[in-house]
Amino acid sequence: MEVWIIGLLTLLLAACSEPDSPAIDSRESAEATTQLIVDEADSAYYDQLRARWLELEHADRAEAAQTLEPELEILSQPLPEPASITPVIDAAATPAIAIIIDDVGHSLAQGRRIIALPTPVALAILPHTQAAQRLADEAGVAGKTVMLHQPMENGAGLSIGPGGLYVGMPRGELEQILHANLNSFMPIQGINNHMGSRLTAERDAMDWVMQVLRERGLFFIDSRTTRDTQAAFAAEAAGVRHLSRDVFLDNERTPEAIGGAFNQALALARRQGTALIIGHPYAQTLDYLERRLAGDLLRDEGVEVVSVEELLARKYRR
Ligand SMILES: [Zn+2]
Repeated sequence: MEVWIIGLLTLLLAACSEPDSPAIDSRESAEATTQLIVDEADSAYYDQLRARWLELEHADRAEAAQTLEPELEILSQPLPEPASITPVIDAAATPAIAIIIDDVGHSLAQGRRIIALPTPVALAILPHTQAAQRLADEAGVAGKTVMLHQPMENGAGLSIGPGGLYVGMPRGELEQILHANLNSFMPIQGINNHMGSRLTAERDAMDWVMQVLRERGLFFIDSRTTRDTQAAFAAEAAGVRHLSRDVFLDNERTPEAIGGAFNQALALARRQGTALIIGHPYAQTLDYLERRLAGDLLRDEGVEVVSVEELLARKYRR
């Protein structure tokens, strides 16, 4: 296990040292990377890098480095909702799911596949990625939701890319970086955290983030990469509209596992009224969603796919 982890980290570091790597952990490189021209040939490279990266993302706590597989299993289960934030169930409404695809922005082709999905879907776009603005434009035209996928420090010390927020940052610096990310492409309707198992557990930092979102009228989605997350509590206290991730769609990238996670979300929606799914732009995930969301397949099952905004509207309707 240890050798495997070291191997992964070595690969990750090797990838990060590439001059055009999306995972360059340098705040200074942010402006330069936005100027890059999109190269479709890089898609495979980004896909491979992201796969390595995300294998660790969903286990991004220091102790998880020792027990990666069990942690992945645990994180594929819905985490219990914080006691003070009970989901509101509208018994009269049709059960609904909303889908967010994270880590968008490195590949124009993959982003366009998400935009072309026949149902509402949100693109959570990493700041300072080469296809960010073009995909935000095209998503806006297609009526899809655009979110900032805000990189936040994880507990395993993994690179989070440009525009990251870290524990120990003074409030002014944190606000400045968040504003710069929110200004790096548009339109943006809300944000969710990329990684963040360390930062989302810090209440002060989460309070500062929520104040910015409140000023700018944006919603927050807690990806819930740690049980210790304070994000939903901070959002609640700041009066920021928020939801929490129920199901990760593709912790395991086989059609069977993705289908199982999707059906788990449908069952959750039938039980609690709504469910929020987060997936990633893997070929397997997009293949699955293109098939599963086609036609009226879901309507026949009594569940509708709605936008993240509609899921928020249902929560805050009363
Ligand atoms: Zn992410």
